[in-house]
This record gives sequence, structure tokens and C-alpha cells, in this order.
Amino acid sequence: YGDFNQKIDYVFKVVLIGDSAVGKTQLLARFARNEFSVDSKATIGVEFQTKTLIIDQKTVKAQIWDTAGQERYRAVTSAYYRGAVGAMLVYDMTKRQSFDHMARWLEELRSHADKNIVIMLIGNKCDLGSLRAVPTEDAQEFAQRENLFFMETSALESTNVETAFLTILTEIYRIIS
Ligand code: GDP
Repeated sequence: YGDFNQKIDYVFKVVLIGDSAVGKTQLLARFARNEFSVDSKATIGVEFQTKTLIIDQKTVKAQIWDTAGQERYRAVTSAYYRGAVGAMLVYDMTKRQSFDHMARWLEELRSHADKNIVIMLIGNKCDLGSLRAVPTEDAQEFAQRENLFFMETSALESTNVETAFLTILTEIYRIIS
């Protein structure tokens, strides 16, 4: 298990972006370590986490970057985007504003990142269904218009987290191989 003595065929850098508190850190913790912590924010300083998986019999090391709180100052540096082949654009489905900001994040992403980057829109916190402020159809429509993959997730309940990362990584693999 793990990377020890393992030949790595590909390293894919994927960045997480979106407003503060939408659940980026917890999505990463869930995917990379199958963990979730209710009182968050040990983010500061953590740059990325990796997870190695097999896609089409190739060993792919996913290097997933978290903003480490930079997004609060709307100053995610261009180094953050450098070399990224995938991006997860995350909003909180109980916070309409975090969805309304997706267009701005997408614009920032497109101005900094490679033009072939694979982008997935993520509506997180789907466990809080009764507090939903963003209809699925609104997000679907936005994703379709902007040519993004789309999924609703819960880092808390582990819903669709693995699927979301696998989907974006498989698509990156398909493009690159
Ligand atoms: P970030 O600032 O985007 O990295 O957001 P965090 O990952 O730190 O999460 C912000 C808050 O939302 C924390 O209190 C988390 O526990 C909570 N949170 C994250 N993901 C979920 C989720 O899927 N469901 C629920 N109910 N809460 C979540």
C-alpha cells in the first residue's frame, strides 16, 4: 500500500478553488485520508496531499492542492495554478453566494491555468438537504454552459467524493494518454 517501491506513471496536479468554508479542506481530507473533522481549519500551511491510484492499469499519483486560506484575500497566487491539469470549483449548496461566485472563480482559473485543464463544479454539503439554496438544475445549467463536469457531494457523509475525484482524474488520464 502507498507509494513505497511503486513505479509512478503519471502525476496529476489538481487544484481546489472556491470561497472560504465551502468544504475544500474536508473534501481533500475525505479523499486522501478518508477523514472528516467537524471543527476545521488546520489548513494554513498545508499545500497539498497525494493519493496514488490505478487508472487503466497505470499508476497515477493525484496531487491535490488546497488553498491554505489564500482565497479569503482573493489572492490565490499564480504558482497555485501552475502545472495544474485539473480543477475542482467548489461551492456550498446551502450558500447561494458561494455559487454566484463560481463565475468569478472560473474566470480567474481560466486566466491562470492551462487552456486544456479539466474542470469539475462541485456542490458540497448535500447532506444538508433541507438548507439547500442552490437548485441542482441551476448548477447543471451553469456547468453545461461552461463545459464543466458537475457533481453534488458531501465530505461529511462521504457522498460522491471518491466518484468526483475519480471522474476528474480519469478524464485527465483520457486526455493525456
Ligand atoms: P474550506 O474553507 O473551503 O476549506 O472549508 P472547510 O473544509 O474548512 O469546511 C468549512 C466548514 O464546513 C467546516 O466546519 C466543515 O466541518 C464544514 N463542512 C465541510 N464539508 C461539509 C459537508 O459535506 N457537510 C457538512 N454538513 N459540513 C461540511
